[in-house]
Amino acid sequence: MKHVQFHQHGAVDVLEIRESEVPNPESGQQLVKVTLAGVNFIDIYHRRGQYQVPMPSGIGIEGIGLTEAGQRVFWLNQLGSYSQYVIVSDHHLTPIPDSPLTDAQLLPLLCQGLTAHYLVDSAYPSRQGEIALVTAAVGGVGLLLIQLLKSRGVTVVACASTSERAEVAKHHGADFVGTYEELTDLVNAATHGKGVNVVYDSVGKDTFDRCLESLAPSGMYILYGAASGAVPPFDLMRLNSKSLGIRRPTLATYTASRTERERRLSNLIDDVQRGVLTYPDTKIYPLDAAKDAQELIESRRYSGKIGIAPWNL
Ligand code: NDP
Repeated sequence: MKHVQFHQHGAVDVLEIRESEVPNPESGQQLVKVTLAGVNFIDIYHRRGQYQVPMPSGIGIEGIGLTEAGQRVFWLNQLGSYSQYVIVSDHHLTPIPDSPLTDAQLLPLLCQGLTAHYLVDSAYPSRQGEIALVTAAVGGVGLLLIQLLKSRGVTVVACASTSERAEVAKHHGADFVGTYEELTDLVNAATHGKGVNVVYDSVGKDTFDRCLESLAPSGMYILYGAASGAVPPFDLMRLNSKSLGIRRPTLATYTASRTERERRLSNLIDDVQRGVLTYPDTKIYPLDAAKDAQELIESRRYSGKIGIAPWNL
């Protein structure tokens, strides 16, 4: 079988296709033929060494595929998913509910959709009438997050790196849009200077201070990514004057059980079928163009989901 491997943290030119035997599953595992693997920002963290993985390493953590019994399944945390086959434990495999959605339509709902879902449903359950600030608003998670917030009656302030990208957020329902430089002015305009109830931030280091200052008293900071780098340690007393909260959540906590994964994905599929959620077509690369897919996600020019089709070499 063919799969993609990299050798060294921080290098950009070491992604390569490798050929190996199809692995044999042990007890409690299944062999899955991958039909579409997902490209995510966490792949970049793995390559940069921001999240350390043993070298050499496979790449990609999620995908859709078929078990040997022909069941259509997905998984979220199997390093080495840019591959024609993966071994996944029974516990981490989740059957895909019946729906007319194709693999390419379902892929954005997995790592990215489930993240947007747990953020608004569980990490901070936003309520009708509240005001939320969303950064990285036109990334894969961001676009879905905006729409889920709007469907709950939340006013959304959305920021991206350029005015052109911010306009994409507007097309997906955000009420106030602008660049990171405009963040403070946008929040003041949207809240008449009172601050937002919640921040959903995945940029991290570069936006942390501005996001923290944009919160209203009792506001909650949900820091769920670090695209610009990790936030350095900070003094908890900075939360004190406005009684602020901060949470650093991870998808694994909110998708720990198969029941929870199925519930969240079914909710998202319903939202797509009811027209509540729309998103760009998934851009699909063959396995031997995995490096191009990585460059696209790092480029900050793209908005939407990227997939790897491992059998279209
Ligand atoms: P995206 O396609 O959304 O790409 C990342 C986005 O981050 C881009 O849209 C880019 O938009 C923005 N960005 C801001 N600063 C930078 C930077 N310095 N370098 C690159 N991009 C930057 O990826 P995903 O949808 O896969 O993931 C979005 C975020 O969600 C990631 O940070 C990821 O780590 C996080 N995540 C967290 C999870 C969790 O449970 N904690 C689970 C899944 C994802 P712009 O240029 O407009 O700012």
